[in-house]
Amino acid sequence: MSVQAEFLLIALALFLWESLLWLPMRNCVLKRRWRSRHWQARMPGHLFATRAAGVLPLLPGPLEGGLAPCQSPALFPGAENVLHLESREGVFFNLGTLDWKNLVRDGHHLRVNGTHIRLTSPRTLAALSHLRQRGYSVSQAFSRQWQLALSPSRAAREWRRWRLASSTLRFFCPVLTVGFFVGLPLLYLYTSLLNMLLFSAWLWLLMVFISAQLWWLGRRVYPEARGALRMDALLSLLVPFHAMRASENASLHAFATTHPAALLLSTGDLENPWLAHYSRRILFPASPADAAWSSFIRPLLEKHLDFARYDTPPGRDEAEESARYCPRCHALYLKTTTSCQDCHGVALREF
Ligand SMILES: [Zn+2]
Repeated sequence: MSVQAEFLLIALALFLWESLLWLPMRNCVLKRRWRSRHWQARMPGHLFATRAAGVLPLLPGPLEGGLAPCQSPALFPGAENVLHLESREGVFFNLGTLDWKNLVRDGHHLRVNGTHIRLTSPRTLAALSHLRQRGYSVSQAFSRQWQLALSPSRAAREWRRWRLASSTLRFFCPVLTVGFFVGLPLLYLYTSLLNMLLFSAWLWLLMVFISAQLWWLGRRVYPEARGALRMDALLSLLVPFHAMRASENASLHAFATTHPAALLLSTGDLENPWLAHYSRRILFPASPADAAWSSFIRPLLEKHLDFARYDTPPGRDEAEESARYCPRCHALYLKTTTSCQDCHGVALREF
């Protein structure tokens, strides 16, 4: 293999590495094709996951209409101000009543009584400390965070703000990628070394521009994430692959305090399969902890969403012999089964 081919392969490997987003499992990345009204929901962790986060490969599509890595607040308050945490597997467990001194920031994590909760953006913590200063208890602060995260009008504002603030990033990041992987090799093969060097200098100017844009985002648009955005700006100045992914990295801050359901509702994508599945999880809780979560989140979402539209039977075209279905996960069963094995015994319904 020639030196040039080796260089290109290494560059491609670094680019793919930069395309992996490490996200907490309560994230749901919404992705939309150009000119489409419908979002695709992608969950982290299908490829690989640790206790705190899962990997999601986010290769850039040719014509993307939007990308929003949305996130649920870290904890939710149940009865008598007891706080609950959703585990990786979607199971909720009780952390007891908490005081502000039980919540400690530890790098990219929030440490709660020895449990580490991965955070993607300082914006989530800034919102909590703002509520703390206003005299909220921990439970009240998380309750308020959920209210804000689930508000479709707020989600619409966050979406507009991000689209406006990131318009140049969304254009220049793909230009840099194409310039690096297509322009540079072509110039090397078919023209002079001087042309290639001049083009490299132009690509670096693009990196400087991307870096300046990130700096500005941290200064004027998302000041709560200023430190993280400045670090990205510095890396984008030095590492081409980081600059190519700058838009995706910055979008983590933009949507850190927006729930995916709120963004779907604000854009009118009510037929979204993820939203339907999420609503059925709320309608048919599978355990006592699930029921506590459902009774907390249902009144908040009911203001914006008619749950009855998702309480429908699944299609059974490919399994006509099935006579029953699980109303929660839509698994199909024969007449002999009465409860769903995947949903801790939710009662089945007949077609
Ligand atoms: Zn089920």
